[in-house]
Amino acid sequence: MICWICNATEAETKEHIIKKSDITRAFGKGSYSGGNAPVHVKNGKISDIQGANSNKIKYEASLCKACNGANTQPFDKAYDKFISYIYANETSILKKRFIDFFDVYGEEFEKGQRDLYKYYAKSFGCRLVDAGEVVPSDILSLFFKESFSTGLRINFAVNEDVLIMPNEDRNGFIGKGDLIGWSNKSETKKITEYTEYTWSEHVTWLFAFFWYNKFPDGCLGSTWVADRQFIYLGSFESLDNEQRTNFRHD
Ligand SMILES: [Zn+2]
Repeated sequence: MICWICNATEAETKEHIIKKSDITRAFGKGSYSGGNAPVHVKNGKISDIQGANSNKIKYEASLCKACNGANTQPFDKAYDKFISYIYANETSILKKRFIDFFDVYGEEFEKGQRDLYKYYAKSFGCRLVDAGEVVPSDILSLFFKESFSTGLRINFAVNEDVLIMPNEDRNGFIGKGDLIGWSNKSETKKITEYTEYTWSEHVTWLFAFFWYNKFPDGCLGSTWVADRQFIYLGSFESLDNEQRTNFRHD
């Protein structure tokens, strides 16, 4: 398989499905054992993770060394800075319900938020490739540009049900939602390819929602395409009333 970002070099590195730094931030480097060890839940099946480099939390190889390393390192760094900021300032962010990228990246916030966006675009691309989908050209071409236009919009929301969890549990609540493909063809025609996608990934209560060619749900936050100093957080709940009652009493 050829690397999907440069389309030139043989893919040989596996991108983490769940970012290594997110796992180690919550659980340490491993090996993991005992009651506080992370478990991997996929399609309803639960299994143990031995360490932050476990193959269970990596995609099949779809990137070359350069594209998963030096070429995209600034994006990974911007993401780590963002998530560290979220953990360190949880109380004030949850009270204000907005994030000022100046507080995260300082004077360099314009570049910082653009690199962060590119991290999410890379994450989304890896998910598409893993599902056997083709990464749309507008996403492929944005990684090394300062200005671009794309159909990929992102917003951020607070999952209110995660806030019910005790701190030590929710800090390790890290994962990705289902990738959903949509077609704008009429129902009577056979769907041969998707033109729209939705997806999400989360670290504790902060959910990033991805809207490719689909209009974002405004309840899930202000729309961001690497073009804002401020993001306003949306809000949602993932449990129904009965589940929530059981959850509180567990
Ligand atoms: Zn490459």
